[in-house]
Amino acid sequence: MAEDKTTAIVVGAGPAGSTAAYLLAREGHEVILVERGTAPGCKNMYGGRMYSHALNRIIPEFWTEAPVERCVERELITFLDGERSVSVACRDSEWAGPGCHSFTLLRAEFDAWLAAKAEEAGALLACGIRVDDLVFENGRVVGIRAGEDEMMADVVIAADGVNSVLARKAGLAGPFSARQVATGVKQIIELPAQTINERFQVDDFHGAAQLFVGDCSGGVQGGGFLYTNKNSISLGLVFNVAELSRCRMKPAEALEDFKSSPHIAPLIEGGREAEYSAHLVPEAGLGMMPELFGDGILVAGDAAGFVLNLGYTVRGMDFAVASGEAAARAVMEAKAHNDFSRNGLCRYRELLRESFVLRDLEAYRSAPEILENKRMFNQYPKLVTGLASELFTVDGKPPARLARKIYDRIRASGIGLGQLALDGWKGARGL
Ligand SMILES: Cc1cc2nc3c(=O)[nH]c(=O)nc-3n(C[C@H](O)[C@H](O)[C@H](O)COP(=O)(O)OP(=O)(O)OC[C@H]3O[C@@H](n4cnc5c(N)ncnc54)[C@H](O)[C@@H]3O)c2cc1C
Repeated sequence: MAEDKTTAIVVGAGPAGSTAAYLLAREGHEVILVERGTAPGCKNMYGGRMYSHALNRIIPEFWTEAPVERCVERELITFLDGERSVSVACRDSEWAGPGCHSFTLLRAEFDAWLAAKAEEAGALLACGIRVDDLVFENGRVVGIRAGEDEMMADVVIAADGVNSVLARKAGLAGPFSARQVATGVKQIIELPAQTINERFQVDDFHGAAQLFVGDCSGGVQGGGFLYTNKNSISLGLVFNVAELSRCRMKPAEALEDFKSSPHIAPLIEGGREAEYSAHLVPEAGLGMMPELFGDGILVAGDAAGFVLNLGYTVRGMDFAVASGEAAARAVMEAKAHNDFSRNGLCRYRELLRESFVLRDLEAYRSAPEILENKRMFNQYPKLVTGLASELFTVDGKPPARLARKIYDRIRASGIGLGQLALDGWKGARGL
């Protein structure tokens, strides 16, 4: 049965949806935030860290009230090949300064907190409702359908994640290909804070973020991640879906192998597996972006493919928050003109461009293509670890000059010098 019409219905209480609902409610608009999970965040997973700049704009110093875990002060990237590993570590105390650059977070707690902020601001949060369809009138979206129930609104914000049913129902998105998405598997492993501090050289407030490249993903496009929380570690692997099916790899088994490898086992020793989850990640950037708005509808966050994977860093949470903000502002402007048509909502694209969302996706347009290069996950980690191992090995054999060692290693890797230069040039330009 049709309910009274509200200004906006936001579908999905992830960071994109809750931000949009919070801002609209804060400005006095009637908004309903619909979530299929029994509580916001209960179905959501990600790697483990959010860059804080986007939410800090909206709720200054949100970390003083939000359930954040640790402020990331130590960043590592580790190349793996069998028993060998090479890590590059970077620590910057400014990241933990007054602007707090990024935090590790647990989604169940964080998403619940952000949705509660929207509720406090006046949004109506409706959990346990899975939206099945949109309601159309003269080809224009006028509401949502969940089972037998319909809810009407001037505008619907589709913030329903990577598999957005609503963007497809609105005719804004088509199906994505297996090459455009990755699947992530993750465990939360509980460990005492003191043990985490000692193993990762951090303290109770500061944390570490670590990415892994190489044979943890079986040499296929993907990688590993590890984030330190207060009393747990978020550990997981991400694989390109097309590659996964080509290699017939089982992500859960690969994660078990990763955990028992000499690179990870000492870091999680004595830990208790508290949670296992899996989720898709949109990885093709602009290559999979749907139309961002239509008559009576806007698409935000993962539903719009707003994730940036640069290999050394993964960002989706700050894109979700900023696109939720842009969607809310576009709706407010449409409301001021009482025009929720495609024309009335077209400011959304401009607002996304004025924020970092479209700007950064455009700047890193070639990143997905660079990360598809299989040498990044196979030959280059082998080359780096092999060379480092040789540098530090003293075994009484005749010495060779460094240049000779590098040359021999490159030859043995099967990568031609021209190819190496080209990959290096493309990587430096595109990332
Ligand atoms: C393995 C992995 C690692 C990642 N690592 C990071 C990282 O470290 N840092 C980072 O910034 N980003 C990371 N990301 C990306 C990040 O998780 C996403 O970009 C972010 O969650 C997008 O937020 P969102 O609000 O758009 O969508 P989501 O967080 O997916 O929220 C969508 C919401 O919509 C709800 N929903 C879906 N369908 C319906 C429906 N029909 N009806 C009602 N509700 C519905 C869902 O239950 C969910 O609550 C990672 C992602 C994965 C999968």
